[in-house]
Amino acid sequence: MTAFIQTSAARTPETAVQDHYIPAEAPFSTFVRKGQVLRIEDSYGQQAVDTLFYNAHDFSERYSSQDTMREQGAAYVSTGTKIMSSEGRVMLTVTADSCGRHDTSAGACSCESNTVRFGAYTKYLHACRDNFVIEVSKHGMSKRDVVPNINFFMNVPIEPSGKMTIVDGISSPGDYVEMKAEMDVLLVISNCPQINNPCNGFDPTPIRVLVWDDGAA
Ligand SMILES: [Zn+2]
Repeated sequence: MTAFIQTSAARTPETAVQDHYIPAEAPFSTFVRKGQVLRIEDSYGQQAVDTLFYNAHDFSERYSSQDTMREQGAAYVSTGTKIMSSEGRVMLTVTADSCGRHDTSAGACSCESNTVRFGAYTKYLHACRDNFVIEVSKHGMSKRDVVPNINFFMNVPIEPSGKMTIVDGISSPGDYVEMKAEMDVLLVISNCPQINNPCNGFDPTPIRVLVWDDGAA
């Protein structure tokens, strides 16, 4: 677990330049400009937020979980994490985190993985990979552009043996993570619809995304 960093009292929804309500199970995307601060809020708690970033000017440069973990020498995303691109550049820096546990190893749920893990009857349940494909298609991309993602608010303990399991989330209602954009980025979210494991407390809920112009905390 890492330290909680309080954000500025001046950073309220009233001063945000973007304020989005994202329904349970829904996809979402928006652009965040260099210097802006992005907040993803787990409004009701225990909600995994599958997230990808792309260079807003060249979508072939996108989030790299491998480079992000290697550069910081840690398996989790939290305050201080530099979110790295496939070109080895810093896309965003995590500047605040009231939860302290975000995964970037376990990937996104899909109809295929659900079928393998939970049984054939789950094949037709909505899944994050569907959300990602739907959302990136709005920006001219396709399923080949969906890469391993960040799972904000998803709790995936990794044992010394390397074994990892998705367990109950530790995020409480209103928990949030904030990132300062170090380049213009396209943010793509799947508000995870999974109901077969504890990543959403078996009850997917809405989330909120806010963006501020002022990069100073
Ligand atoms: Zn999912």
